[in-house]
Formats: sequence, C-alpha cells, structure tokens
Amino acid sequence: MPDRTNLPFIEIRSSSIQGLGVFAAIDIQKATRIIEYMGERISPDEADTRYDDDAGSCTHVLLFIVDEDTVIDGGIGGNEAKYVNHSCQPNCEAVIDSGRVYIESLREIPAGEEITFDYRLERAGEYEPEWEERYACKCGSRRCRGTMLAESPARETEITGD
Ligand SMILES: [Zn+2]
Repeated sequence: MPDRTNLPFIEIRSSSIQGLGVFAAIDIQKATRIIEYMGERISPDEADTRYDDDAGSCTHVLLFIVDEDTVIDGGIGGNEAKYVNHSCQPNCEAVIDSGRVYIESLREIPAGEEITFDYRLERAGEYEPEWEERYACKCGSRRCRGTMLAESPARETEITGD
C-alpha cells in the first residue's frame, strides 16, 4: 500500500451536476472528514441583507446555517468546500461540530466520484415563491426530490398553523 497520508482527498474540476465540482482524488473511507466548510461567519440578518437583492442568481447556496445565530458565507474567505454540489442522493453529509462544519463521507467513495451532500436550504426570512424555480434540483439521482430546499412551504404552513 502506498502512503496516502500526505495526499489531498479532493480535486476540483467541472461537474455534470453544475459548474465546478469536488471529486475524490483517492479512495475515501466511510466517515472521513474530507474538508471543512470555511467562510466568513455572519448573523442570519446579515446573510439576508447580503443576499436579498441577488435577483435570479444562486448565491444563497454559498450560505451554510450553523445555528440560529451563525451563518457561514462561503462566498467570502471560503475554501474548496463551496464547490461541493448538492445531491438528493449524496455520498456525504455536512456535520456540525463545536460550531464548525465538516463535509463527511456517508460511505466509501471511490477515486474519481463527485463529492455531494444534501443542501436542505432554508432561511429564517420570508419564503419567496421564486425560490422553487431558482433552487430547482438537477442532480440526476434516481431519488431526486426536485429541489435543493429543505422544506416545502405547504408543509411549513401546516406545522406553524398559519
Ligand atoms: Zn436532486
């Protein structure tokens, strides 16, 4: 076995899902912390202000909600983790540990496979109907639910009773 401890887990190249993607550079074992999701740490209010006027763009996918007080903006000071694409049938999950976010493998990932996790996008602010189209999912997996959003607004309304 070659010594792989100094090799990077990932490489960045163009993806069939969308734009650039992150790919396994070597065979990655299950439950491996592949990369930390880095970026500027801001409040949810600041995140809303920052990305409220982005008509038609998809910049919201750069935001990762850590908890009710903290959002990581991968668009500022972010690393390669911001290129990890969404999939409804992902091979990784985002794990929050002591306020930090790591992309961790759910299973063994062979070299060359694209790294993905389920974005489950949500935002504290008001729901905007155009999100459905803006964050439509094209991941191509057999279990694709058609959206990168976490919850459908109909379901949320049921829960809150509004
Ligand atoms: Zn999908």
